[in-house]
Amino acid sequence: MMGFAQADLSAVATKTSSALTCFTKDVISPLQETPCINCGRCVSACPARLVPSHLADMAARKQYDKFEEHYGLECVNCGSCSWTCPAKRPLAALINTGRMTVLGMKRAAAAKAAAEKKAAEEKAAAQAAKAGGAPAAGAEKKG
Ligand code: SF4
Ligand code: SF4
Repeated sequence: MMGFAQADLSAVATKTSSALTCFTKDVISPLQETPCINCGRCVSACPARLVPSHLADMAARKQYDKFEEHYGLECVNCGSCSWTCPAKRPLAALINTGRMTVLGMKRAAAAKAAAEKKAAEEKAAAQAAKAGGAPAAGAEKKG
């Protein structure tokens, strides 16, 4: 049940689309989301032993540090939590958005660190070349 729901048939299938799952109109008809009733079904259904109700809340509130601390990155995006939730909360979608955001932030931080390291190395190399190429202070010209 991984993937994204599509609203109509104009959605594009690409070579990375591994499957299409079609449902009857009754199943995909708009569902009214209601508040969490703390039933724990999403926890029981999660194969990664996560607490989807809390992770979804953290993702919705943009509490990304907490989201990561509570193993939000371990979600395998199976969708079981959403399917089992009697309150029809879009748990998997919220958690996946949180996961993608955290991973994107990590990639951006890594790219920034790599760029800073490269700039520092280039600056050090330029300084070393300048120091090596310039005549030493007090040196006399021979010949
Ligand atoms: S989508 Fe993620 S949080 Fe939800 S049941 Fe699957 S692994 Fe657990
Ligand atoms: S299954 Fe839905 S209603 Fe039950 S605890 Fe999880 S989020 Fe709340």
